[in-house]
Amino acid sequence: MKDTTYWLQKAKDLRLEGRAFIDGAYAHADDGATFGSYSPIDGEPLAQVALCASADVDKAVAAARRSFEAGVWSGLAARDRKAVLLKWASLLETHSDELALLESLDSGKPIADTTGGDLPGTIYCLRWFAELIDKVHGEVPATEPGFFGTVTCQPLGVVAAVVPWNYPLLMAAWKFAPALAAGNSVVLKPSEKTPLSALRIAGLALEAGVPAGVFNVLGGDGATGRALSLHGDVDCIAFTGSGAVGRDIARNAATSNLKRVWLELGGKSANIVMADCADIGQAARSAAAAIFANMGQVCSAGSRLLVQRSIADRLIPLLLDATDAYQPGHPLDPDSVTGAIIDRAQFERVCQYIALGRQEAQLLKGGNPLSVVGEGAYLEPTIFLAEDASARIATEEIFGPVLVVMLFDTLEESIAIANSTEYGLAAAIWSSDLKTIHTATRQLKAGTVWVNCYDELVDMNFPFGGFKESGNGRDNSAHALGKYTELKSTITRCG
Ligand code: NAD
Repeated sequence: MKDTTYWLQKAKDLRLEGRAFIDGAYAHADDGATFGSYSPIDGEPLAQVALCASADVDKAVAAARRSFEAGVWSGLAARDRKAVLLKWASLLETHSDELALLESLDSGKPIADTTGGDLPGTIYCLRWFAELIDKVHGEVPATEPGFFGTVTCQPLGVVAAVVPWNYPLLMAAWKFAPALAAGNSVVLKPSEKTPLSALRIAGLALEAGVPAGVFNVLGGDGATGRALSLHGDVDCIAFTGSGAVGRDIARNAATSNLKRVWLELGGKSANIVMADCADIGQAARSAAAAIFANMGQVCSAGSRLLVQRSIADRLIPLLLDATDAYQPGHPLDPDSVTGAIIDRAQFERVCQYIALGRQEAQLLKGGNPLSVVGEGAYLEPTIFLAEDASARIATEEIFGPVLVVMLFDTLEESIAIANSTEYGLAAAIWSSDLKTIHTATRQLKAGTVWVNCYDELVDMNFPFGGFKESGNGRDNSAHALGKYTELKSTITRCG
């Protein structure tokens, strides 16, 4: 039985790899520098990880370039790349307990989430793009007589992927799976807070048959990511993370080689519940899950709940009850639904927002730190009722377990509030009236709009990404291939 004792014992037996993976081999940073990786579960050290600097970035990019130009991957038939990626996915499945545990240890996520969500999601993503890639067609546009033309897709070359800590493997896979499937070589830079799972899967990629140099992983911090964004031989940088870093990457791409820049950034998503919602209990439970899953550390979290005033008295008590399911527990207890905040710095940041919320709004629930395991940072799920939709807690991304509830009278008002932040990642509308639903789905400025649900079907078949300052481009779906390929028009005179 996989209980807490099983996972704790397995954690003791784990061999953690902290070296970078460059050109098909694990290696220390060129200058031997390392940084400590700590577990958010208890604050204890996990491993020393290579702190890759410019010299390592140069090596990894050179290996990626060499492998790309040699055609060892880019030149394979799509079905051959598919076979290797499917084998890699199977190896991830074989090692899924180990990888899920690594993910929980490094990120503080509940083991139920990493075994039930992160790992299956990563494997599914890899398989989805592997299965897609030998079914992609070019185009034969209409031409004048005497000409024949095609439009084909070609890989870009060297793709750098810089990713955050909230879904370490999954966010990485959303980049590397389409990029590799399309034939690119990749240099992946996981977050310094959660580098271990990405480093581990690099060895499995080699074992599956991904040629040396095609998939490289660099441990490191912002400076490592910055060196990738400034590198003259990187063709594209795909980033998921904060808006501030996204801006820096866009600037660095502009001042270096104008590499393509894809940004998946933050959100402050609105979850709107109309009075004619068919199931208020379901809306309340879903609203709690929308913000408190993954400790609120979700870019598309429903961090603003907009409730039509006439049902507030019924919905809010149900919401407060539903929130009890998200009290933090030991992340390695399979029954825990909520784990630790990623680290002390993020914990302090969220606590500052809670202190601000106490001034700007009315605290309805939570707001306190909890002691769960050792020095780990744990927080009660927290709910505020705000009157001012422009309050800082109602407009800024907190990225923690803090929900801001606001009341409105009309649909128009709710849409205006929903659209009033700089973000546009996701939104939801709960109603049983088709006209209301159509109006809202058309007018909400968000890359994903859920109707009578929240956070359902974050699935490879649907593009994921944001309007406005939530970024550009889309992860997932066949549209994502466009980020990592160039279109080529070939025109032949036949007459
Ligand atoms: P972050 O921006 O601090 O860091 C993300 C990555 O960028 C890390 O690997 C970091 O080392 C690297 N980095 C830092 N400075 C850099 C620089 N100057 N140049 C290049 N790389 C640099 O973000 P985070 O704290 O790791 O993640 C939280 C953020 O990610 C939130 O804003 C969240 O909304 C966002 N996010 C967005 C999505 C999405 O799909 N839209 C998904 C998950 C997370």
